[in-house]
This record gives sequence, C-alpha cells and structure tokens, in this order.
Amino acid sequence: ATPTSIMVGTGKGAEIGVLFRGGDALQALRAVEVIALDKTGTLTEGRPELMGIETADGFDADEILRLAAAVETHSEHPIARAIVRAAEHRGLRAAAAQGFAAEVGQGARAEVEGHPVLVGSARLLAGEGIDTRRLADALPRITASAATPLFVAVDGHAAAVLAVADPLKASARSAVARLHAQGLEVVMITGDHRGTADAIARELDIDRVVAEVLPDGKVQALQELQQGGRRVAFVGDGINDAPALAQAEVGIAIGSGTDVAMESADVVLMSDNLLGIANAIALSRATLRNIR
Ligand code: ADP
Ligand code: MG
Repeated sequence: ATPTSIMVGTGKGAEIGVLFRGGDALQALRAVEVIALDKTGTLTEGRPELMGIETADGFDADEILRLAAAVETHSEHPIARAIVRAAEHRGLRAAAAQGFAAEVGQGARAEVEGHPVLVGSARLLAGEGIDTRRLADALPRITASAATPLFVAVDGHAAAVLAVADPLKASARSAVARLHAQGLEVVMITGDHRGTADAIARELDIDRVVAEVLPDGKVQALQELQQGGRRVAFVGDGINDAPALAQAEVGIAIGSGTDVAMESADVVLMSDNLLGIANAIALSRATLRNIR
C-alpha cells in the first residue's frame, strides 16, 4: 500500500464517520474474517429497563426492589441504573447501604438495613451457595423475550428474579446482514445469561454466541476464535472491553463508548450506527484494491 492511498482512504473514512488510528488499521481490516461484538451497549442501546419482578413465596416485590435499588445506587452498571430508576418510579422509600462491593461482570452486594443483599447473575448466587431453584420457573419466560434475569438474595436466600430488557439498536439486524454479505462470520460475546444471548442471536441472525463470560473471558473467547490464524475484529463500547479491543487483530470502538475504549481501539466509529462496521470494511477493501 502506498502512503498516498492510505492517506486518501483515511480521509474518506473521516468523511463517513470512521476514524482509522493509523494506516495499519485500514490495512488490517481488509483481512478480517470474523467480527466479534460485545452485546450490551454495542448491539443493544445500553439503556435497560426493568420489565418485571417474580418473587419467591413470602417476599414482596416492592420491598425487594427497594433493597436491590439501595445496593445498585452505588454501581455504575447500566443494569444498576435501570433498577434504581424503577424504584424511584414506583416511589419506593430509599434505603442506605453499607459495605458496597461490585462483583465485576456478575453483580453487586451491600448490607441494607442490617440485611446482606446480593443482586446479580445466577452464577453469582450459586457461588455463594444460594439455591435459586424455586425461581427457576421464571427463567425461560424471561430469557425467551431477550430480557436479562437478575437474582436478588436477602439474608442468603433467593428472594426474587428481576427481568431487565435492553432494546436492540435499530441498525443491528441490517448491520449483521451486511457483514454476512461481505463474507464474514458474526459472533456475539457477552457476560449475559445464555438464554438471553441466544434469543438475541436468533433475532439478529448471529452465527455464534459466547455467553456468561466474565470480562477476562472475553479475551480468552477471542483467542479461541483466532485459532488457526483466523483474523478477528472485536467491536465494543468500552465497559470492561479494553483488553478485548487490544487482543483482537482490529479493535473497533463505537462512538458512544468510553474514553478507555477509544484509546484501546484501532478504529473508532463516530456514530452509534452499526452499519459503520461494514462501511469501514468496504472502505478498507476498496482502498487497498486501488493500490494494485
Ligand atoms: P455484557 O458482557 O453484556 O456487556 P457485563 O459483563 O457488563 O455484560 O455483565 C454481565 C452480567 O453480570 C449481566 O448480564 C448481569 O447479569 C450481571 N451484572 C453485572 N453488573 C451488575 C450489577 N451492577 N447488578 C446486577 N447484575 C450485574
Ligand atoms: Mg459491555
């Protein structure tokens, strides 16, 4: 590739809202065979809403929501904000929490009015030896609608499961279709529940799903996709995504993402529109065709 053609390609990218950080990124993107995408905030809007609460016998939904919100007030996760907003919306009296701790990629805990409260994935509760079986009936219903199930435990007992739904980006389905038309395999990598991830993958026609991974597991999932020398690009919005952006052949950060993501990325999409991924690939291919 000549420096001039790279410069022209990079300039065209800027015109269509695709920032290549260096000529290497423009060249590397052409050879990519697999596009792996983060789910929350990348394929979805990253603005989840509470859809419902299923309580175990003897627990009151509003009371559980009030305790969960007390914990989540201290968390920055988008799911946490959904829970806090729902509690405010229902006019529930705020409670103070002590000893807050975030469990990265799994949930959060704190003591509320003298009770230990745990909010998060089934795995988080299982790790504490808390039995979630009596709430298991609700799970297929929640995940089939592509919502995320979040368990709440109070005093070491599973008290409720909350359903939180994050709308898909309007561009998600057509973006996957265009990547397929470009001959690429499309993979979703998420820390979310397997059932939820599968429901979203079906809706978007995504080829492969890696679910229920912790933030470190995203790097490992990429390494597995890279086996046999396959070239993989990773698209993320940033929350815990910096290591994955660095591990991929090409790290692509989307515009609404965090500063950390922008710094770790090779390509930055200035808009939220996922069609930008296919546009960037098309531009990379066209630029390098002109060179020969
Ligand atoms: P993703 O990979 O989709 O971006 P994360 O790694 O941020 O998701 O989170 C994975 C899972 O961990 C969530 O689906 C949720 O079950 C749980 N989780 C993470 N943070 C919280 C929190 N503050 N409150 C409740 N659950 C949480
Ligand atoms: Mg994320």
